[in-house]
Order: sequence, then structure tokens, then C-alpha cells
Amino acid sequence: MLQFTYKKTIRERVHAKCGRHPRYNPERDGRDGINGGCTTCWQLYDLDQARVKLDSAIHDFQRRAAPWSTPTKPRRHRCGDLSHPAV
Ligand SMILES: [Zn+2]
Repeated sequence: MLQFTYKKTIRERVHAKCGRHPRYNPERDGRDGINGGCTTCWQLYDLDQARVKLDSAIHDFQRRAAPWSTPTKPRRHRCGDLSHPAV
């Protein structure tokens, strides 16, 4: 029997801005909004694309694993209250 346990925890916040093009937003402007081939804007665009791919891969994984997975119940805190789960 094959057993596969998967746990995902990603807590990362990135706040980045191009010094020359502070109004550039890779989500809104895309690659067409990059002015003059700015390397910083390209890096912001690549970073955003990597995030989109990661989100897509996680969603695809969860969709594929759904038929074989069993949801786990949150662990109870010592006091028995589920509002603040055990650490
Ligand atoms: Zn730039």
C-alpha cells in the first residue's frame, strides 16, 4: 500500500517595486507594460508568473488528490475549543 502525506505551509509576503517604474504592476500590466526592457520589471513579471504557476500547480494537485484523500480534522486545543487550534 502506498501512502502519501502532503502538508503545505507557505507564509511569505513579498512587497517589491521597481525604482524606475514604481507604477508597474505585473498582475495588471503584464509583459506589455514593461518599459524599455527594464530588468527589474522583468524580474517582477517573472516572480508574478512563478506565483501564478505555483498556485495553479497546488490547485491541480488538490483536484487530482481529492478522490483518494481523506480530510483531516483540526486538532483540539487543551481547553477543547476549536477556535484556537493546537500548535
Ligand atoms: Zn522597471
